[in-house]
Amino acid sequence: MTETTVITRQSADPALSVRGLAKTYGTGENARVVLADVTFDVFSRETVCIVGPSGAGKTTLLRCLAGLLPRTAGTVMLGSTEVVSPPERLAVVFQDYSRSLMPWTTVRANVDLPLRKIKELSKADRCRRANDALASVGLEGCEDLHPWQLSGGMQQRVAIARALAYEPSVLLMDEPFASVDAQTRADLEDLTHTIKARYDVTILVVTHDIEESVYLSDRVIVLSGSPTGVTSIVPIGLNYPRDQVTTKSMAEFAELRANILGMVRRSATTGDEA
Ligand code: ADP
Repeated sequence: MTETTVITRQSADPALSVRGLAKTYGTGENARVVLADVTFDVFSRETVCIVGPSGAGKTTLLRCLAGLLPRTAGTVMLGSTEVVSPPERLAVVFQDYSRSLMPWTTVRANVDLPLRKIKELSKADRCRRANDALASVGLEGCEDLHPWQLSGGMQQRVAIARALAYEPSVLLMDEPFASVDAQTRADLEDLTHTIKARYDVTILVVTHDIEESVYLSDRVIVLSGSPTGVTSIVPIGLNYPRDQVTTKSMAEFAELRANILGMVRRSATTGDEA
């Protein structure tokens, strides 16, 4: 495998298509170019991870993709629709579950409340979606608890359930497991594989954890140092189902991890020099 391997899947329509995305914060003397030229596709039902040096602009990129932040140049297409504001068919899970959940109300209400925005959903449909989503993240029986009565990992499961209840075509996750302990993180990584199979959703995850990116994804997008572009897109050919012990002990896994880690380190050095 070479560093510059780029996969092209002309036959499939991309679920998310990013072309020449650029983002500059500030203007005039205070202008700071963070994203210079980012181009990639995510195909339907793929899981793709984005890695890169700290400060490369991973979170900025994800917020531009979600329509939460205006871009300076380039296009972002969700299917055939250009993203100009947060689209209905796209859901986001953030790292900081404590700020994204409503602490004053129950787990069920946290999942149900955003669904009320979808006008055509009846109360019965909302209830079914919330129950299905909570069951799929292993939170049956917790519906009437408040977020503060749950562990950090369980709170992040509520945030994931809330995103899934939307039944999005694309799920974006920004460092989703960075605030939990190692064992919980491993459980949530496995949960990501489970929900992918159950919800038939396309998943894009920003992570600083190279091992996690290899374990979770079908392809890993490596960003360069700032100002940022795409250094490489690496196909992860590991078989499914994946397992924390077996998959992570494979020689192929170690080789992919080392290869991507090398790219990120070199990107960081290049970025610093730029
Ligand atoms: P990463 O997620 O890769 O660590 P970020 O997207 O968080 O990177 O940040 C990329 C760069 O953009 C950083 O140097 C950060 O300081 C800068 N930045 C992020 N948000 C803003 C903002 N709102 N205004 C100005 N600069 C910002």
